Amino acid sequence: MDFDSLDKEIVACRKCPRLVAWREEVAHTKRKAYQDWEYWGKPVPGFGDHKARVLVVGLAPGAHGSNRTGRQFTGDGSGSFLYPALYRAGFASQPDATNRDDGLTLHNLFITASGRCAPPGNKPTSEELNNCQPFLRREIEMLKPKVIVVLGRVAFERILKIYSIRNSKWKFAHGALYQLENGTWLLCSYHPSQQNTLTGKLTVKMFDEIWIKAKELMSND
Ligand code: SF4
Repeated sequence: MDFDSLDKEIVACRKCPRLVAWREEVAHTKRKAYQDWEYWGKPVPGFGDHKARVLVVGLAPGAHGSNRTGRQFTGDGSGSFLYPALYRAGFASQPDATNRDDGLTLHNLFITASGRCAPPGNKPTSEELNNCQPFLRREIEMLKPKVIVVLGRVAFERILKIYSIRNSKWKFAHGALYQLENGTWLLCSYHPSQQNTLTGKLTVKMFDEIWIKAKELMSND
């Protein structure tokens, strides 16, 4: 299995009827500001360096963000906070992420999500996340990352599930750091959603510290 085959499989997936209906309805009705766009309206594959040592796991596509553009964190408020931070840390070639052809490349970092289809209210169900989990598992198997950065509690719990970790001392908190049995680091960050960034729950400084830490961890042997 390689990334191209996996991406094709992801993009063709229709396993969750509720999400298939929602992603396609949003793509059809569109937001007023994006009436000229041809929305992606399909599952969104991972994006980045296929030799990355850092894997970033988010929640799920935004209805008018990556469900519109077809690339992780591209075209919405979360991405406008994430990519400048990745650029400052040297993981991204540019701070802007507007569409799939904007020239953005990532170095040593790969971005993916717990769920690949935009969910109503940004809330996928457990069943939908379970349906989608094999895609994330396969990306992890192919990348063998040294560091996994989880953006938000849902991604944290998904990683615990994939690695069968039932340690009640492992709790999600911004900046929390754990080491998996295989040596991979698990670093937690608040999700860069506008709900967090506009309220000051997640500041630029707090977010920059996450990427500095990720760099440090990926460079240590
Ligand atoms: S959320 Fe995942 S499993 Fe469900 S339809 Fe989308 S790609 Fe398939």
